[in-house]
Amino acid sequence: MANSIADNYLKVSNQIVQTARKAGRSAEDVKLVVVTKGQSVQKIAEVIQAGATDLGENYPEETTQKISEMDQVASAVSWHMIGHLQSRKIKFVVDHFSMMHSIDRPSIAVELNAKLDRSLDVFLEVNLSGEESKGGFQVSNPQTWAMFCETVLGLQKLDRLRIVGLMTMPPYTEDPEASRSVFRLCRELRDFVQKETRLISIAQLSMGTSLDYNVAVEEGATYVRVGEAIMGARDYSKKV
Ligand SMILES: *Cc1c(COP(=O)(O)O)cnc(C)c1O
Repeated sequence: MANSIADNYLKVSNQIVQTARKAGRSAEDVKLVVVTKGQSVQKIAEVIQAGATDLGENYPEETTQKISEMDQVASAVSWHMIGHLQSRKIKFVVDHFSMMHSIDRPSIAVELNAKLDRSLDVFLEVNLSGEESKGGFQVSNPQTWAMFCETVLGLQKLDRLRIVGLMTMPPYTEDPEASRSVFRLCRELRDFVQKETRLISIAQLSMGTSLDYNVAVEEGATYVRVGEAIMGARDYSKKV
């Protein structure tokens, strides 16, 4: 609790490097996205000062508000949208975000594409656990994977969106090992999609949070999304 944000940032960064090396992976292949939803602009400035270059947010209006308060500091970093996006909030993503991790349905991809005047790197969010409370493309049954590939090929035709990979969020657990099978399945689905669609550009895996980012790195994550382990507890009263 007494640790500063800078200490936490360094600790998590070093941990990622070590875990990647132990897993026989290159540490440069894992990008740390610091999740700053529900955090003050002061704390966000601290983590940027500590070296963070990529920040993840769930509520685009909250992000837009923060960016306006932060001035130039905000333009020095890349903003990643990681939460469910309602179509009426698309313009915030168009205006401020450089990556979108949570394309969870075809309609949002189509609408986002129509509003963009530039290209945007996106992940398709996949639901591999079958949890009903969770969004994303339903691919918990491997028999749906071939159909998912058809969907991917359709979405690939949207000219402003560049599908760079898959994102997943395992069921909530206190035990990081419990997430391993979901992360592994996500990697297997990525491999399947690459093979079936021949779209080798769909290579990235956005997976792992504060609790289980080490397991995610071991299973091939190329983007981890870590919030509270670096930033401390969120202020949920600010949620919009
Ligand atoms: C909030 C959030 C995170 C970060 O969770 P922490 O437990 O704070 O690390 C990562 N991914 C998504 C999609 C989130 O909503």
